[in-house]
Amino acid sequence: MHHLDLQRYPRMFLGGTHTPLEYLPRLTKLLGGPSLFIKREDCSRLATGGNKTRKLEFLLGDAQRQGADTIVTSGATQSNHARQTAAAAAKMGFQCTVVLEARVPSMDPQYSASGNALLDKVLGASIVSVPSGADMPALVADVAQRLRDAGRSPYVIPVGGSNVIGTLGFVECAAEILAQTAELQVPADHLVVASGSAGTHAGLIVGLDALGSSCTVSGISVGAPSSVQAEKVGHLAAAVCRELELPAGDIPARVRVDDEFIGPGYGLPTPAVREAIDLVARHEGILLDPVYTGKSMAALIHYVRSGRYAKHENVIFVHTGGSAALFGYELFLGQPQ
Ligand SMILES: *Cc1c(COP(=O)(O)O)cnc(C)c1O
Repeated sequence: MHHLDLQRYPRMFLGGTHTPLEYLPRLTKLLGGPSLFIKREDCSRLATGGNKTRKLEFLLGDAQRQGADTIVTSGATQSNHARQTAAAAAKMGFQCTVVLEARVPSMDPQYSASGNALLDKVLGASIVSVPSGADMPALVADVAQRLRDAGRSPYVIPVGGSNVIGTLGFVECAAEILAQTAELQVPADHLVVASGSAGTHAGLIVGLDALGSSCTVSGISVGAPSSVQAEKVGHLAAAVCRELELPAGDIPARVRVDDEFIGPGYGLPTPAVREAIDLVARHEGILLDPVYTGKSMAALIHYVRSGRYAKHENVIFVHTGGSAALFGYELFLGQPQ
């Protein structure tokens, strides 16, 4: 067991930590398998919540240390990361520019008008909209250069906030989960989490490994094939281990990615996503989202039904947020099923 020293990193408190860990009695009973719990990262205290808040605590701490006055980041039109970044910037007195790629071929007029796209405007971010397939790193670098030319000091946050600094937030989340399960006296056997830009997945693995937990982590890919996603998670986790001076020997074996629930592509939901959203809403009163947690919950439901877990085990679903995006999917969710 290792000591995690995160105190030495500058940080801004955005309400990302101490999210609840709750039992899901009605979903557990309905599925008839292991005991199901949920880690409520959707309840971070930043403009409808989500998993980017923990990352932003460290990223904005770094931005402040560097003397930045403007935050620049990027994502898809319905990016939860862009919306949480806009909120964090507003709370901490930074200006914010978000570069949004129309990556998802949606027929829904709400997709580009409502949900996170609307909240970005409400939160006062400057929005740069670009077409699908645009060279995002180049465009972001362009925006940053133009800000510098105008006398500002930009701080660029990568897609999803998933660099070493942002990922520290989820190393800490792993410690929080272990403390909460210890208090409830339910050992954490398995985590299921959506895996996108990879920081959430990588940070959880590093934290669990460092703290000596044998809890497995199933990362449910929301876009990339398993091999590509596993490499991304593994690289980031290894870099975080180097930063924290932790042994990384067991990391490769702990990286598990499942790409079976992506469906037609990133941001494009499937019938299993619809079922997951409806079941969790109607049995637990909890809102999932169509892009990430709908897919990771569809995976969890499938795992339970196919007998992957023993009945005495405890499975924790990491709810990474995203319910604001529901409002961009009226065509998909608004019809009776
Ligand atoms: C960004 C995001 C994820 C994925 O987390 P990564 O750290 O990017 O892998 C999962 N769920 C929601 C709701 C998100 O916004």
